[in-house]
Amino acid sequence: MSYISNVMQMVREMNPAEPEFHQAAKEVLDSIEPVVKRYEKEFRRERVLEHLLEPERSISFRVPWVDDKGKLQINRGFRVQFNSALGPYKGGLRFHPSVNRSSMNFLAFEQTFKNALTGQPIGGGKGGANFNPKGKSDREVMAFCQSFMTELFKYIGPNEDVPAGDIGVGGREIGYLYGQYKRLTNQYEGTLTGKGLLWGGSLCRTEATGYGVCYIAEEMLRAHGRSLEGSTVVVSGSGNVATYAVEKAQQMGAKVVTVSDSNGYVYDPNGIDVQVVKEIKEVRRGRISEYVKIVPGSTYRDGKKVWEIPCDVAFPCAIQNELDLDDAMDLVANGCFAVTEGANMPTTREATDYLQAKGVLFMPGKASNAGGVGVSALEMAQNSMRTRRSFDEVDADLHGIMKGIWTQVSEAAAEYNLDGNYVVGANIAGFQKVVQAMREQGFV
Ligand code: NDP
Repeated sequence: MSYISNVMQMVREMNPAEPEFHQAAKEVLDSIEPVVKRYEKEFRRERVLEHLLEPERSISFRVPWVDDKGKLQINRGFRVQFNSALGPYKGGLRFHPSVNRSSMNFLAFEQTFKNALTGQPIGGGKGGANFNPKGKSDREVMAFCQSFMTELFKYIGPNEDVPAGDIGVGGREIGYLYGQYKRLTNQYEGTLTGKGLLWGGSLCRTEATGYGVCYIAEEMLRAHGRSLEGSTVVVSGSGNVATYAVEKAQQMGAKVVTVSDSNGYVYDPNGIDVQVVKEIKEVRRGRISEYVKIVPGSTYRDGKKVWEIPCDVAFPCAIQNELDLDDAMDLVANGCFAVTEGANMPTTREATDYLQAKGVLFMPGKASNAGGVGVSALEMAQNSMRTRRSFDEVDADLHGIMKGIWTQVSEAAAEYNLDGNYVVGANIAGFQKVVQAMREQGFV
């Protein structure tokens, strides 16, 4: 049995019933095969892959809280501290009913490589809870966040582990979490990122992931003689990543014609009005279907996905596995020539393989959505220095980070004669950095 197959078997045995983690591990291991083959003897001796696939620490805890009816609720919280070779653990917190050990391991593992690609001094982690903030009052969300932090604070710190937001964890939740952290530790320090601008947050953090998706998409398109300018773009989701991907793509001259949520999607042939999306999702916390009541000429399709709309470029920015093989076939049939992932693993393995086989340019999330965590690392630096930088300064750094990622990813693919395969390029580039740092710090 090959070394990679052995390790995959170990992952399955040690983490039964964790399909998302198996999927992520298999994708990474398959794509780093050329590197593993080149250094197989050393890797086997040092058990490099076995080290890499076992989190350094993984915490799961009870989160009791009281709802507005006075009823006691119990949720389960997680924090997976996957790898600290390159810096303190860094990665978001997700509050969503789908959160479990498998999704946490998958996201923390992916985060390790993504963070490595940013060139910032950050390791990989992820956390969250199977709590659904949807439909909860502000007081209920606050009660939940305070209880969650009452356990989590023991394991985090500005030089240890710095969580951020993710699905279901936005500015409101980070505020409640940070307030409780401060109460418990008596420290005003940069232990969470995505903070409010009045209390240590960085300008351009809200925009960073979506903007970064557009910056790297443009690098990839330009390398192939195309551009976002004049392109028709479909975006899925209408959360943080999607909204700012829409905004930046439009600033760069694209026409974005869709946004969606878990109920359905909006098609606006005149180009999505991003201010309306912000008003519905950020201010009113409403449903995207409300868009058609406000913007004439737009239509809403309940229960459908955006991929049926013809486009040049697609940005999946909602959730994992939202773009499957049938969707990929629709995209190709309609002439789509580039997909850049905004979400984490939104494209299934079969869909990715199909798109690449059909010559569609494909940039994986671990490279293309790294702008958010890149700017989070800049927020950590600002907090340590007790300083504050302008929007334009941070945006310029973000642009530099995304260009740097593009260079690493495209060069790593080329080095192994897999020109244009950016999935392999991203995995190899991230993997090489993490392994080198682990090796220099000594395996045990
Ligand atoms: P949000 O919670 O702000 O938004 C998620 C969006 O996806 C919502 O519009 C949600 O709709 C929609 N959605 C959820 N499930 C589905 C579905 N089945 N079909 C269609 N739409 C759906 O999250 P973010 O924008 O922050 O994150 C989106 C993705 O990007 C996640 O994978 C996240 O891990 C990743 N990411 C986020 C970063 C960030 O900085 N925010 C950084 C890097 C990655 P609804 O309101 O109905 O739930």
